[in-house]
Amino acid sequence: MKNNYINFIENIQRGNFVLPYCKKCKKNIWPPSDNCRLCLGTLSLEDCNNKNGKILEIFVSKMMNNNNNNDNTLMILVDINEIILLGSLSVDQEKQAKASLKGNLVRIKKCGFIDNKIFYEFQFLNKFN
Ligand SMILES: [Zn+2]
Repeated sequence: MKNNYINFIENIQRGNFVLPYCKKCKKNIWPPSDNCRLCLGTLSLEDCNNKNGKILEIFVSKMMNNNNNNDNTLMILVDINEIILLGSLSVDQEKQAKASLKGNLVRIKKCGFIDNKIFYEFQFLNKFN
């Protein structure tokens, strides 16, 4: 039987973001494992593509940008149900200047592997961007 970690990786390879979930504790568990680290109960995998995350921190104000537009790509730290992920976010320069990005809600737009490393690309939930 495949364990949750392998299932997690295989889902990321398909661009699908899942997290182990403990029904008893009502919590997502990180890193992906087979048993809850709180109650040791069995975990099931939950589809988390549409879960809201909150921007905790912004790390790099400007990165290489392959698009020929005015967007900046930022590195952000996001909290999804107490799971903290580092990912990228494309932001329109003008809008970035007008608003504080911390605390804004995002969702995973894309995830997968680049150079054997997992990447997460986020997008805003609202019409902000
Ligand atoms: Zn538990």
